[in-house]
Amino acid sequence: MWSSTRPRWLAFGLLCDTSAAVLMLADLFSRPVMRADIQWFLVLLALGVGQGEMSRHIERVRRWMAGQSHINVTSVWYVAGAALLTPGWVSVLAVLLYLHLWLRVWRHVRSRPAHRVVASTAASVLSCWAASYAVQVSGLGVLTEARPATAQGTLIVLLAAAVFELVNLLLAVTSITLYTRERSITDLFGTWSDNALELVTLCLGGLVALALAYQPVLVLLVLPPLVMMHRNVLLKQLEVAAATDEKTGLFNAFGWRDLASRELARAQRSQSACGVLMVDLDHFKRVNDTHGHLAGDSVLKAVGNLLRAEVRDYDVVGRFGGEEFAVLLPDITEHQAIAIAERIRAAVTKLEVEVAIEDHQVATISGLSVSIGVAVCPDSGTVVDRLLLAADTALYKAKNDGRNTVVSVGANL
Ligand code: GH3
Ligand code: MG
Ligand code: MG
Repeated sequence: MWSSTRPRWLAFGLLCDTSAAVLMLADLFSRPVMRADIQWFLVLLALGVGQGEMSRHIERVRRWMAGQSHINVTSVWYVAGAALLTPGWVSVLAVLLYLHLWLRVWRHVRSRPAHRVVASTAASVLSCWAASYAVQVSGLGVLTEARPATAQGTLIVLLAAAVFELVNLLLAVTSITLYTRERSITDLFGTWSDNALELVTLCLGGLVALALAYQPVLVLLVLPPLVMMHRNVLLKQLEVAAATDEKTGLFNAFGWRDLASRELARAQRSQSACGVLMVDLDHFKRVNDTHGHLAGDSVLKAVGNLLRAEVRDYDVVGRFGGEEFAVLLPDITEHQAIAIAERIRAAVTKLEVEVAIEDHQVATISGLSVSIGVAVCPDSGTVVDRLLLAADTALYKAKNDGRNTVVSVGANL
């Protein structure tokens, strides 16, 4: 932890850890222990552990595919806990459910380092604490004493869910901002489907709380949808992973081809043109030979980010293994495609990549360049393979012309 994380994240992480521990203990010791608290705490703990055991395999595969935004299905129990328990007890619930998942699943798989698991636990404790505290000071009363026909119960649950989500989001965004440098809106806030799932989790948490307060046995009806939802999250993750290049986060060859062939079919239907760029780093072997393979990987990542930044959102950028990238540019003329390729080529020459070398030193790699082959549809072909072949031939010519150049099929071959 001390050697690998940024100081500013370290300060934030430690602040979260200590404030979570202090708030939890202060609340526990400042109130008399109530029977109701213990009772609901044990029920929620049993449900959380039970659900964790039922979904152990799913969770294991999800963790194994680290690196993607992670929806925490356990939030269901935290939201219910925040509506039913005092701040101290719901915090203990969060700690124990995290501990259970860590013992049974996470420590067995390639996963995040321990200090990050502790920081996630602290973030959940703080969210739970704040949500339960908000219910306590809201004057809405106690959920188990609310009469079923009134809005009181619903309001308590809505308040708990809203505060939980707000604090959770705030802590997550702060943590990601401090932890990594390369981040997009999606990295910070997750995709639409991530957020839809988060909402489902909050809703189920609310239903669990209401069921426990009014008709406890109904809580069993929440378990099957929860396990199914967890499974669907995994399916979605697998789908994304199958089409993603792990090193750069771009599409891999499979994902790129899939999307590109759909775009080409659409272009043919609407009789519009589109362009394909094959981008290959010049003398990349030298980067590896001089600075090592890890530095080479950082360069690949930086070039991937540059390509994404230089093209439009709906352009399809992929890494075809090695140091070769492909870009599909829908609705574009050859002239425009060449201009974009030129822009990319010029931007790469200005790229400076910071890489870590031994003794925590940082070196800057610059003087990079790319050669780019350009082909357009329908002139060079209307199916993916023909276009790729044409762009590849142009790329080969660009390499022969001395590298750091753009060659278009139509203009130069
Ligand atoms: P050229 O200008 O002709 O393209 O020269 P080059 O050195 O870029 O091309 P060559 O095909 O000879 O070598 C490509 C190098 O890319 C060889 C390999 O070590 C490196 N490489 C391929 N995949 C990866 C990777 O995932 N990470 C790193 N660091 N290097 C990779
Ligand atoms: Mg190369
Ligand atoms: Mg190559």
